[in-house]
This record gives sequence, structure tokens and C-alpha cells, in this order.
Amino acid sequence: MPFSKREQLLILNLSELLPFSLSLSDEALILTKGVMRGEIPIESLLLELQQDFTSIQQMHFSKNKNGQILLMIGPKSALDKEALESTLREIISLELPNNLKNSATKKPLIFIPADFFGFPLVGSLYFGVIDRGTNLLQVRPITGCPLNCPFCSVDEGPASKSKVRDFIVDPDYLISTYNYILSEKKLNGAEAHIDGQGEPMSYPYLVELVQRLWENNNTAVVSLQTDGWFLNEQIIDELSAVKLSRINLSINAFDSKLAKRLAGRGDYNLEKMLELAEYILDSNISLLL
Ligand code: SF4
Repeated sequence: MPFSKREQLLILNLSELLPFSLSLSDEALILTKGVMRGEIPIESLLLELQQDFTSIQQMHFSKNKNGQILLMIGPKSALDKEALESTLREIISLELPNNLKNSATKKPLIFIPADFFGFPLVGSLYFGVIDRGTNLLQVRPITGCPLNCPFCSVDEGPASKSKVRDFIVDPDYLISTYNYILSEKKLNGAEAHIDGQGEPMSYPYLVELVQRLWENNNTAVVSLQTDGWFLNEQIIDELSAVKLSRINLSINAFDSKLAKRLAGRGDYNLEKMLELAEYILDSNISLLL
């Protein structure tokens, strides 16, 4: 190989460049954010880079001592780091939506940005914004649920036979739709209620979503419906910091065995859920059980 010396290679720290947790398999770069997991085949990623930067003669992945993923490219002297980083980000943002999975349900996850075939975010109960003619707008960012409640009216959960894929909405698109509805309806004092056909706390952009819903001056309340599966002290603190008004926490039963049965999961932990409910009570967030 012509460029074996490290100093002749440009080093791109992908773990710092991309807003995901990264890992490598033999064949793919794996990008994870919450339940959202995407794989980009290494071969196609490198090929696309080579098409744009014909002076590339050597390229391989590596890891530093902190476990961060590095892309080593040579010859350094013939390459523009900023241009490479920008192209890499572009390739990943184009490729990733085609290769996403929901790790909570193990189903393919369809990413819906604003330009997704003109797909509207109003009119579906699966995702988007639901206006039922009151001052409350339901904001539904993601489908899919980690629980398997036997009574689930929408047949969600990893064991569902009728749900073969999940959907996730680009936060920019969700926020612009919410703002559009508020301005069209001239709604003052709106409640943005984040819920879902499934578990909305699986949305990897939840904290950002709460924060951005507040940026509309006509928002009076931001509330969240949850089955509690993804609750922990850290996320409660983060949601409290962005002024989430209320959590509506669904608990199916106050008997531990029955709660497991009704959640459809042997690892459902009622005691932990009740501890977290207490933790919410001690935060700035109101709790509705
Ligand atoms: S928590 Fe709700 S959406 Fe999830 S399986 Fe149970 S009833 Fe269905």
C-alpha cells in the first residue's frame, strides 16, 4: 500500500462528526440513537466517497483508544478535510433512512422527512399531528411499542403480527406541522400532547421535541403519554430541564405478577416504575397516573 504511515493519512473522527453512537461490524458502519439503529454497508460508503474524491488512494476504518470510530484516508496532501466531512454527512443522511430499524420492536423503521413523497402529517392516526377540534393537539413522533399488552387496541408491540414496520418523523417536519396548525387555527393556549400509536418515549429526539414545542409562543402546556418503559432518572431530569409540564403514566396493575402479564413482558418491573413515579413527583413535572 502506498501510504502506510499515519502522518500521511487524513483522520476523520466519525464519532465526533456524526450525532449517533457508532460501532463497526465486518460489513457495516452501525449508527444508533435510542431505539433507532441504522447500518450503512462499508463498501458502498467507501465507493461513494471515492466517486466524489478521485484522488483517494487509501481508506480504512480504525478505532482510537476511547473506542471512537476513525476513518483514515490518504493521501492527506490531496484532500480537503471539510469537503470530505460534508460529503460524508450527506452520504449518511441519504443512505441512513433506507436502512433503519426500531431496536425495541425489531421492525424496519421508516423515516419521514418533509420531502417524503409529499407525505402529510395530518390525517393519519399513526403519526404526525392530530387535531380533534379542541385546544389539545396530539403530537405523534414515532410508532412501535416495547410492551405486548394483550388488550392493546392497536396491536402494537414486538409480538404484533399485523404491524410489520414502524414510522419515525423528522423533528423538523413535526415541529413545522405543529406550528402551521397553530397558526392556521389561531390557537392560543394550546396543549401539545406527545403521544403515539405505541410508546412516544422511544422517540430519540424527545427532549429536543419538547424544547422546540415551547418555542411556539402559543404553546401553554407540553405533556407526554407513556407506558414508562423508557423512563429513568436521567431522562426525567432532562425533560424537567426543558420544562415538560406533565407525564401521563399508564400502569396496568398494582400487583407485580399481574402487571407483568398485562405488559406481556416477564421483565416488566412494577416496583421500579413506582419508584420512578415518585421521582417524577419530586421533579418539576406533574404526574397523572
Ligand atoms: S403500552 Fe399501549 S401501545 Fe404499547 S402494547 Fe400496551 S396498550 Fe399497546
